[in-house]
Amino acid sequence: MRKKIIAGNWKMNKVVSEAKQFLSDVKENVPSSDQVESVVCAPFVSLPALVEQAKGTDVKIAAQNMHFEENGAFTGEVSPVMLQDLGVEYVVLGHSERREMFNETDESVNKKVHAAFSHELTPIVCVGETLEQREANETKPHVEKQVKAALEGLSEEQVKQVVLAYEPIWAIGTGKTATSEQANEVCTHIRDVVQSAVSETAADAIRIQYGGSVKPANVDELLAQSDIDGALVGGASLEADSFLKLVEAGK
Ligand code: PGA
Repeated sequence: MRKKIIAGNWKMNKVVSEAKQFLSDVKENVPSSDQVESVVCAPFVSLPALVEQAKGTDVKIAAQNMHFEENGAFTGEVSPVMLQDLGVEYVVLGHSERREMFNETDESVNKKVHAAFSHELTPIVCVGETLEQREANETKPHVEKQVKAALEGLSEEQVKQVVLAYEPIWAIGTGKTATSEQANEVCTHIRDVVQSAVSETAADAIRIQYGGSVKPANVDELLAQSDIDGALVGGASLEADSFLKLVEAGK
């Protein structure tokens, strides 16, 4: 049985004091991490405070991006070494907003995935199609290409630890959720891709989240699907009450 993983992706929201308030509101109230993994993906500036506050609780802290190099002349970037040093456990890689607005490519995502494993960070790798691609029937080949590129060169053991997030771009922040059948169909396809590219063991172990307008009202139905092992949630993860409902649903 794959343990569900619910991650709140705050994107570029909350100053440090708001981030700390959120964590103090949720940290005693999330379910045990034996039942479900509860992850908060926060902006870099809030990570030190959140990692401190989350110690000894069932909340895990994620960065929303990083560079793949360890150090050097990369003005404005944050490295995997820095995240590991802070005690961050997860890192979101290849979010569609980064692919679309900050030139993230399949190749850079793959380098970042390798860098994450070199620094004991668990990657949450995002894939997903545009509305145009969906309408042109290109969803599966597109997502397949992204998944294969992201996992390129990893060992089977590493693939088993990766978290993939299937996020159709047309469903992000639009209020348009994919139906649970649509979401599951692509997640099943992703698992098949992992099976043929890596192994059946890896395909059985890898966790696949759905993301795109997930909220307390639709999370149960999505999580009930055969190949959906969690959710990556933007808007509905910003309020403590709503985040707690989402992680409860993952139990
Ligand atoms: P949303 O964002 O839940 O606000 O649609 C999801 C995401 O981008 O991860």
